[in-house]
Amino acid sequence: MYSEFDLDKIDLSAIPPAEEPDRQYYFMAKCREWIRGFEEKNGRIPSCCVTTFGCQMNARDSEKLVGILRRVGYQVTESEDADFVIFNTCTVRDNANQRVYGRLGELKSRKKRNPDMKIALCGCMMQESAVIEKLRTSYRFVDLVFGTHNIFKFAELLCRSFEEQGMIVDIWENTDQIVEDLPVERKYPFKSGINIMFGCNNFCSYCIVPYVRGRERSREPEDILQEIRQLAAEGVVEVMLLGQNVNSYGKNLKEPMTFAELLREVEKIEGVERIRFMTSHPKDLSEELIQVMKESRKICRHLHLPLQSGSTRILERMNRRYTKEQYLALAEKIRREIPDIAITTDIIVGFPGETMEDVEETIDVIRRVKYDNAFTFIYSKRTGTPAAAMENQVPEAQVREGFDRVLKVVQDTAREQVARYQSQRAQVLVEEVNEHDEKLLTGRMSNNTLVHFPGTVELVGRILTESRDECQRF
Ligand code: SAM
Ligand code: SF4
Repeated sequence: MYSEFDLDKIDLSAIPPAEEPDRQYYFMAKCREWIRGFEEKNGRIPSCCVTTFGCQMNARDSEKLVGILRRVGYQVTESEDADFVIFNTCTVRDNANQRVYGRLGELKSRKKRNPDMKIALCGCMMQESAVIEKLRTSYRFVDLVFGTHNIFKFAELLCRSFEEQGMIVDIWENTDQIVEDLPVERKYPFKSGINIMFGCNNFCSYCIVPYVRGRERSREPEDILQEIRQLAAEGVVEVMLLGQNVNSYGKNLKEPMTFAELLREVEKIEGVERIRFMTSHPKDLSEELIQVMKESRKICRHLHLPLQSGSTRILERMNRRYTKEQYLALAEKIRREIPDIAITTDIIVGFPGETMEDVEETIDVIRRVKYDNAFTFIYSKRTGTPAAAMENQVPEAQVREGFDRVLKVVQDTAREQVARYQSQRAQVLVEEVNEHDEKLLTGRMSNNTLVHFPGTVELVGRILTESRDECQRF
């Protein structure tokens, strides 16, 4: 099997290997030849910029794209004034799509000034056929379009875009393939996301994810553990295990394994100091997981437990498969077993048929669970999902009113919760120099609270003990 260190040894006169990941290493070597040609012609290294929209899954996918771009010879920049710009898109809510179209308009004028510039689009939005139609008709200047299922083929597609003229579109409907051992370029040297599974089988009635990310597929535990051991050897101290519903990890493996069992194995890896994960579907959160969290030294004191709605009637229409009472009982059990845990959540306001009484039910849950933080979203109609065809879409004014009420309670509760940590000493992983004040550092407590305190850049990546009196929370 090839690795990133073999690129110069690959025989490009041979036919491309059929097996992955060797095939992609072959195309990386080929792309490298193209980039060398660019350097000779222009007397400089070409630049690239990967812009990520959406969730941590997309952020991780972007690290994989950057890994390949760097290996083939691009210089990575933050500026979209680059020779190659990729938008890794999200389509969970319609405003994410609209932002991509707006930003594409800006890229069009850049490409007019630099006709050799390349533009690629990938990610969840590309899995929607209406989007592809629109790109083909109104955004002909885009060079390469690919989806979520064939992202591992990026090097091959990049190579094609060097060799062919016109827009290349390669979208797969689905896949059961997981390609391991491709290069990744981490954004942070000291922490990393790790995909433990892909796709989702839950079909919440408002959500487009199962349609654009496909069915649930778990990675083999040994592949995950080997990746984490390697990360730890490279100095990573915090890992975040990623999946749309980590609580159903391992169910479709040849030798099934629970998520809690996987966590126990990750805990044993030397060098890893902190373990995070997201997202946990409440219906699948097991007693075993609570016990593993409780006993663990390394699993962070934070659980993201999406509620979506506090009304059992709406939860049923959302196909969430738990009731208000079941959710409350679960949250209570978690707080009882792990008293220092922070619980955060996602809430949707304005789901079809939602009344102000339903919103009050949601507010009741927020007050009772006392969330440390919550992401509150206005319901967005996604074509193709069951909710989009439901009657009783909620009038905008009512949605706004409900949203403002929910937001106010979320903010009040979060403020009360954070006051709990006042005067306590807590461990903080220093993540970066503060964006607004270079005399301050920004770090994260185990419970995911961001704190800012005086310090200098050498401390980035270290776990320190800080007193909350000296910290500010933004
Ligand atoms: N799999 C995770 C889960 O079940 O919580 C999260 C997936 S989704 C990318 C993140 C959040 O987006 C969801 O928890 C939900 O609150 C929100 N979301 C999904 N579809 C939405 C829609 N159509 N309108 C508004 N918010 C939506
Ligand atoms: Fe979407 Fe529900 Fe799957 Fe989360 S669990 S990705 S909200 S369908």
